[in-house]
Amino acid sequence: MVDNKSKLKNFSRTRIICTIGPSSYDIQTLKQLIEAGMSVARINLSHGDSSEHKLIINNIRNASKELNRPIPILADLPGPKYRVGDLETDQFICKNNQRIFFDCSDNLNKEIINIWPSGLHKDIKKGATLLIDDGAVELDVITINKTLIETKVKLGGKISSNKAVVARGFPSMLGYFTDETTEALDFVLSNDIDFVGLSYIRNIDDIKKVKRKIESKNKSIKIISKIELKTAVDNLKSIIDESDAVMVARGDLGVHLPISEIPSTQKFIIKVANSMGKEVITATQMLESMTENPQPTRAEVTDVHNAVIDGSDAIMLSGETSIGKFPVRSVEFMKEIAEIAEKNINNNSLRKLRFDHVTASNAQNIDEFIAHGAADIAEQLNAKLIVAFTESGSTAARVASYKPSKPVIALSPDPKAHISLSLRWGVYTIKAKNLSNIEEMFQFAEDMVSNEKLAKKGETIIVVAGLPIGFKGNTNLIRVITIK
Ligand code: PEP
Repeated sequence: MVDNKSKLKNFSRTRIICTIGPSSYDIQTLKQLIEAGMSVARINLSHGDSSEHKLIINNIRNASKELNRPIPILADLPGPKYRVGDLETDQFICKNNQRIFFDCSDNLNKEIINIWPSGLHKDIKKGATLLIDDGAVELDVITINKTLIETKVKLGGKISSNKAVVARGFPSMLGYFTDETTEALDFVLSNDIDFVGLSYIRNIDDIKKVKRKIESKNKSIKIISKIELKTAVDNLKSIIDESDAVMVARGDLGVHLPISEIPSTQKFIIKVANSMGKEVITATQMLESMTENPQPTRAEVTDVHNAVIDGSDAIMLSGETSIGKFPVRSVEFMKEIAEIAEKNINNNSLRKLRFDHVTASNAQNIDEFIAHGAADIAEQLNAKLIVAFTESGSTAARVASYKPSKPVIALSPDPKAHISLSLRWGVYTIKAKNLSNIEEMFQFAEDMVSNEKLAKKGETIIVVAGLPIGFKGNTNLIRVITIK
């Protein structure tokens, strides 16, 4: 008799990314985050130094080993951003209408606040608005004299060292590889990192430059392009095409676009990524108030719910888990909200969105037709789940891109497939042995489903695979099995 404690009972389809920092980097808390539902751990290389980052990576690897749960690591590169230089007092309070000078040269001058890397004075014009710390401080540019920018404070507040400086409407003209970004990518290439988050990308040239460096080191690190600039929104389709996944990075996006345009832009990015079958992450301020409070606000809960029903594969926590007072509770809440939202997803319309894109672009794509067929048949037959035999993870990813309401169980002998599927909505990965013939595969699927208590006698499962066995990427077989 199969009991109700199926492994899938506790499985949430939406992936949760946790940013790790001072509140969460110790092994004990990391283990609690994993138990609470973290799927991917993130470090932001814009903050902290390499010895701190190494310690965090070690702790994540140890926590995941102790729990026997592989947790991939995402590291974000800073990208071509301008920042406030080191302030003598570390922070500076400015008042409305106050005049403030900024120096954009390479020569540090203690009397004047420095903006680095050098270049902002060349990118902007008189009349531009500078936004510091995601818009917490706003300043109007009065004059630009060589490297010196004179401003008048429009919205006063706190200016702290290292905070990002943005001139809305004037994208940075810096090359992608600032010193800071080169150093961060070198760190990624010489440490144990699975995904790299590209901040401030403007177009596919920026992505290609990073890919070339990764390939030159013979590494396979997945690329997540962070959509945070207007130019990136304008180039969205080509960016998605060139990336493994995209992130709706609402923090910077809400500085580069009017904040009121964030909801429609977020929905647009999710829809385009869903239609193209690429993973999409919704990030920043999702449960922001939990940085200080044990309960999220109603608005935050609604925001997470909506991000899930719109089609986010993953949702991300930033300050909540890195510097917040309630990192574990934040993940527990995130999981609870996501699981309720998952029941309200319109799977049929997301499947149609994806399939319409496929049929419009390539009518002969057998892989996609089989993947769509498996998802469709699973709905029509009310199957318990879909089993995908997958070498690299691509067959399972393809089926899951049709957002079936039934779980996709990815069976792969390759641990890398688990990593590559860790951001994909709705996939549960199980290690499989290498199988040599198709009858063995069907039997393995049936036994695995019964042994793991995933389906009961009489229930239906859908099996998807590619023949001949062992070749990556070709998906050409569907079988419906009733569990005996
Ligand atoms: C964002 O801007 O929303 C984001 C995720 O990037 P960062 O954490 O680097 O600000």
